Amino acid sequence: MKYNYYIISALIITILFISFIYIQYQQPNDSDHGALNPVLVPPDSANTTPKYDQQFIDDLITNYDMSLQYRNSQITKEGISLVQTLNIRSNPSTTWDTTILSTIEEGGQFQIIDENSRWYKINYNDNIGWVSKDYVQASSSLKTTLDTTLQLTMIDNNTLNLIGSLPFELELYNNENSTYTLSFTNLMFNDSIFNINHSNIPIFKSLNNEIDIFTKGWTHANLVKVTDSHYQINFTPIVKEVEHISENNRDIFTIQTSGTPQYNFETSNNQLQLTFAPDVEVNIPSNITIHGGIFVENVAAVSDGLVINANSPVIWKVISDATSITIDISNTGISKKRIVIDPGHGGTELGTYGRQSKILEKDFNLSVAKLLQTELESEGAIVYMTRADDSNIYQGNNYETFEDLIARVNFAIEHQADIFISLHADNFPADLSVNGTTGYYNNDVPNAKQNMQLANLISNQISQAIDTKWLGSNEQSFVVIRYNPFPSALIEHGFLSNKKDEAKLISTDYQIKISKATTNAIKDYFNGGVN
Ligand SMILES: [Zn+2]
Repeated sequence: MKYNYYIISALIITILFISFIYIQYQQPNDSDHGALNPVLVPPDSANTTPKYDQQFIDDLITNYDMSLQYRNSQITKEGISLVQTLNIRSNPSTTWDTTILSTIEEGGQFQIIDENSRWYKINYNDNIGWVSKDYVQASSSLKTTLDTTLQLTMIDNNTLNLIGSLPFELELYNNENSTYTLSFTNLMFNDSIFNINHSNIPIFKSLNNEIDIFTKGWTHANLVKVTDSHYQINFTPIVKEVEHISENNRDIFTIQTSGTPQYNFETSNNQLQLTFAPDVEVNIPSNITIHGGIFVENVAAVSDGLVINANSPVIWKVISDATSITIDISNTGISKKRIVIDPGHGGTELGTYGRQSKILEKDFNLSVAKLLQTELESEGAIVYMTRADDSNIYQGNNYETFEDLIARVNFAIEHQADIFISLHADNFPADLSVNGTTGYYNNDVPNAKQNMQLANLISNQISQAIDTKWLGSNEQSFVVIRYNPFPSALIEHGFLSNKKDEAKLISTDYQIKISKATTNAIKDYFNGGVN
């Protein structure tokens, strides 16, 4: 009986442990929505002999448009004395014919130049001799020298232009723990030490902040913008001239830039203050010509940016790409606003599914999107749907989910959206009682404030309209909002894995309530809610 007790206890502990692990890996908002969280894979377990890692090199070439030419490779081995007095002997033995040449104190380091089964031949401050392996902690590292050409790719809206290539020498240090240090030698990269973590997502980061290369999903640094596998590098972001035009009842300022300058902006109903990061060279001429402005009262160039005053409450939209920043000023109100609705998933991308009804998330999303389109159009908005039927968005070769998500962003760019809303339903298989409505926004973009407000307004009003728990708004790096230049939000209407939420989501009456609530939230947004 006592044995049974132990077995049952052990079983319960095991089940609890497995459940815990399971829950850890089953966070809500699973990756089927394309979240690109930076996931670092721990380095490979320690190898005693580092080796030239072909896979690692191949990853570099693929991820960073590099061409690498191998030059040479050299293993260095070092030792540390583990004892108070380590004798350096003239021969690898303790017999009468060996002499003690010198000693090394505990912690003393030396280079290992040869070895046999029991002895290391070492060089310690030019004393060359033999020490016993028993008292030495040895480590080895591999230095590989590569001649490298890094292709610099400038992204200009949807086109890729090669602007040059940068040859440099790359030294790859691989120690026993498979952590890598890359050292670049080139005029342009002088004093730059790049560290790279060996993982499926390599990271480059310079110490002097001259150039940072992160991979997709990471906050981009001052000078680098990263898309899937291409990046652009601009060494001195410069803000040049400012042009103004009035068209379609909007005032539009275009600021020409070289590089991708970091900036932020603050708005009130009547004023916008645009401020560039300190490292940006701002060369805006003091007199900016206004060609018959509709809303512009005045505009002033200041040392680190621009201040625009409007003659009435307006909606400010600030977007940027590699060569310009655009400030779009329009009247308040939803009428004539360009709204891109993105019914999540579609075609081969199923999303999640309802546990009771077996409804597919892609079908739910589309159904709500169509109702929302009707509702928004009745308010005078101009609606563009990333898909109007059950199909993938990306139609090119070599289909990838990432491409399908980026295609939704490109669709918004094509239609110059005022806002972008992606519609989804949630899933949490580890606990079917989890329920509620959530908004998601991205913080790593200049529109962070607008994004948060959209996510808040919409998710809150939906949860009130259909009486679900409001789970608030959360920051996330979902592709469709992370790479979106426009104010954007992703809405998880409720959990299709939860019985109560599901019953509401599949009901047409509730879907109509959702579309009306979303429309009201968007109206609030365009009535100046964002200021
Ligand atoms: Zn989804």
